[in-house]
This record gives sequence, structure tokens and C-alpha cells, in this order.
Amino acid sequence: MPNERPDLLPTPVHRFQLGQFEVTTILDGAQRRDGISPPFGIDQDECVVSALARDNKLPVHAFENTFTPTLVNTGKELVLFDTGNGASRRSSGAGFLRNRLSLAGYKPEDVDIVAFTHMHPDHINGVWEGDQPAYPNARYVMGQREFDVWSKGDAIPERRADNRALFLRLISPLAEEMTFLAPGNDIAGGIRAVEAFGHSLGHMAYMIESDGKALLIWGDVTNHYALSLQRPDWHAAMDDDRVLAVTTRKRILDMVATDNLLAIGHHMPFPAVGYVERMGGAYRWLPLTYQLKV
Ligand SMILES: [Zn+2]
Repeated sequence: MPNERPDLLPTPVHRFQLGQFEVTTILDGAQRRDGISPPFGIDQDECVVSALARDNKLPVHAFENTFTPTLVNTGKELVLFDTGNGASRRSSGAGFLRNRLSLAGYKPEDVDIVAFTHMHPDHINGVWEGDQPAYPNARYVMGQREFDVWSKGDAIPERRADNRALFLRLISPLAEEMTFLAPGNDIAGGIRAVEAFGHSLGHMAYMIESDGKALLIWGDVTNHYALSLQRPDWHAAMDDDRVLAVTTRKRILDMVATDNLLAIGHHMPFPAVGYVERMGGAYRWLPLTYQLKV
């Protein structure tokens, strides 16, 4: 495999049991990004953002963006949430999801449903492999509103023009194989769409429930494990509706903390699974370690 990051090996796959369901997170890859504000806290003084980074023992000149799709085996269906970066970033550290499925004991042909949280490149690029569907036996599921706004285009911010072209190229051709969801709809037994609009205009989260255990796959409701949780009010450059994204971030974080839910975030540090603890008026990310194993 080209361009593997030795420092991220040997375990880019993490698995735990949620009731009767098997949940596997798979690291699609990681990329270094220059600076920290932008993209985080763009409505704040730069030194305020830098101070919070330093409080968290983080550098201010760069950060690492990781990408972690999730695979849920319900016993009846194998559901993949988001498809990672695909071939587009394989020369720069990401796009290895499909290849790493085998480390989880699956083949691309085994995936029954591909469910999208939203239409940003790091979530949709991996849906095709060359000119072939990357998961050839899968049907597709996504939010109705998300599909409509990207199709229509007039509400999409100008800075997402390339992203819209990507949507039209990769996702529009799949429309006939797509099931469109409203918030509250089930995509399979025990998997329900949860409204999380803001990061993208029709972004969906997914609640996974089995045998009284629950997990929220929150997609990109947060994009940084420290900055987005400790200052959920701060505007982030990658949010398409920054005001709505703040409202949604606070609502989802409040729900996860209050209900003591397990959460998976696409950009949380691998294995991207954790809990959320309330901390004053804000929150703290508590990464999952061995709680579910002992
Ligand atoms: Zn993302």
C-alpha cells in the first residue's frame, strides 16, 4: 500500500460490541494541516485560540486531521457510515478505508448499505473506486435535505463550489439507488437518522441502538476533540452554516452528555469513539479505552 503512515500502524481498526451489534471504526487516514485558526475559532482573537490549544498541550502551528468511517454489523446487514477520501488523497495520507476493510474481516462486496452523514469530500470521495462503485452490492442512504440542497446549489456557500461539482459527479448518478431520509427515519432495525443540520445544510447523525445500548455516530458535528468540545460556540471555517452549526453542536453534545451515550466522530482522534463530559458551560471528550472490554 502506498504512502502508509508508519506512526498510525499497526492498528487502524478498532472493534467493540454494542448489544447484539458489532461496531468497527476504520482509520481512512490522517493529514497534517497548517495552522489552527483558521480553521477553528475564526470569530475569535487568534491568541485566544492559541491559548486554548496550549492549555490542551497542543501546538498552534499545525494540527492533524484524521478520518474515521464506521462499520456496523447488525447481524442482518452490514452498514458503512461514510466512505472516506478514496483515491483522491491516497498520495497524501488518506483514502485507505476500502483497503483496510480486510483487516476487519470484510470485503467491499459484503457492505449492504452505505449511509452518508453529509456530502463533503472526505465523506463521499471513497464511494467510487476508479469508475466502479467501491461497494458494488450496497444501496445508498442519505438525508433528503442534504441531497436537495447540493442538487439545487443556490444555498451552497461559494467556497464549496468545487465540492458541489464533486457532488454532481459522484453522488447525482446514484440518485436512483438512493433512499432519502427525514430525521427520525430508520435505515435498518436499530439505526435511526438524527437531524444535525449546520456543518452542512442537511447533515445527519445516526443513532444506533441494540439491547438497550446506544451509540451516536455524529459525523462532523464537531471537528476537533478539544477545541470544538471545549468551545462549542466558536465558529469553524469548515461549517457551511456556522451559526446553525453552533446550535446543533450544543444540542448534540448536551444530548450525548446527558444521556451518557457513546459517540463516534469522523474527526475525533482514532479510534474516534468516546464519551462527552459536561465541564461548566462546555464539554470534554473522554476517549474510549478499555471500558467495553473488561
Ligand atoms: Zn469531514
